[in-house]
Amino acid sequence: SSLSSPRSMERPRRSSRPVQVGDVQIGGGAPISVQTMTVSKTHEVETTLEEIERVADAGADIVRVAVPRPEDADALEDIVQGAPVPVVADIHFNYQYALKAIEAGIHKVRINPGNIGKREWEREVLEAAKEAGVPIRIGVNSGSLEEDILDKHGYPKPQALFESAMRHVEVCRRNDFEDIVISVKHSDPYMMIQAYRKVAEETDYPLHLGVTESGSLDTGTVKSSIGIGSLLADGIGDTIRVSLAADPVEEVKVGHRILKSLGIGRPGVNIIACPTCGRLVGDLFSVVEEVEEAVAEKSFDKNLDVALMGCAVNGPGEAEGADLGVSLGRGRAHFFKHGEVVDTVPEDEIVDTVLEAIENWDEEDESG
Ligand code: SF4
Repeated sequence: SSLSSPRSMERPRRSSRPVQVGDVQIGGGAPISVQTMTVSKTHEVETTLEEIERVADAGADIVRVAVPRPEDADALEDIVQGAPVPVVADIHFNYQYALKAIEAGIHKVRINPGNIGKREWEREVLEAAKEAGVPIRIGVNSGSLEEDILDKHGYPKPQALFESAMRHVEVCRRNDFEDIVISVKHSDPYMMIQAYRKVAEETDYPLHLGVTESGSLDTGTVKSSIGIGSLLADGIGDTIRVSLAADPVEEVKVGHRILKSLGIGRPGVNIIACPTCGRLVGDLFSVVEEVEEAVAEKSFDKNLDVALMGCAVNGPGEAEGADLGVSLGRGRAHFFKHGEVVDTVPEDEIVDTVLEAIENWDEEDESG
């Protein structure tokens, strides 16, 4: 990407201890991973594996499955074997499911150790996890805080989420277990941001970011972008999950878009489009949609900013930092590199021209 690109600016990053989830590292400076959760019944192994395959194709680095029943715990071995990405077992408090998951070769367990019930059960789970090298995510949630913590704070304040998380951390620590990832999710992005900041200040455990019950694709994307995005912009967060009442594939896509927007995503083509105004000539919306779709499908492995602009008057100027771009004219478009017009193409060839240029783009030769 060109030197004038925002990508070249250094991003802050909180340092956290590394935790290994299968072949994906969380924290310790590793790239921020994107997670999602399957909606199928976990014990329906074939359906669940199909879903995992689908979300992995969409870019999920880690996938979580719910384990509410014994048959779900029994299915984990086959799921772990068949999944193309590391699998996390989501367990409420049943320590036997946790043991079973670890035995099945699960890559991470989400359980709040303080909810397991008996000290010897806690020890059993944490010892088994340690032995197998399986990390635990402590997942605190505004909707399921402990009674006494709620009583003390009145409602799920950030401090309440923090205290709950630290209670579970204490259980881990007294069992000499430190392979921990923490989340303190809240349905209110503002509260969530404060809660995570507190945990980030007080510990060095890697953080799994998420806004819980964030809603539909539309609302949930906004809430998650604010909550997750604000923290990431400050360098806080090591793995993210966007929760949407929608297909998990959408969660993964939105997750990657959040990372990309902050310039911390995996290599890829970043599409910039002008906001459009009264000077717009031609159908920019279709061009943007088609280019975005094609780029998503090809998932190019290079960092490149492509600007799609609605007119020739201000287009190139506004897209100055972009590597490639087009600005619409009447029935044709200017095609430019580094903000300078290099060609003119008919409107119906815009998308192909852009794709071809991306394909032929050589980062080494053309940067700067
Ligand atoms: Fe308006 Fe042209 Fe700027 Fe787009 S590029 S916002 S159409 S002036």
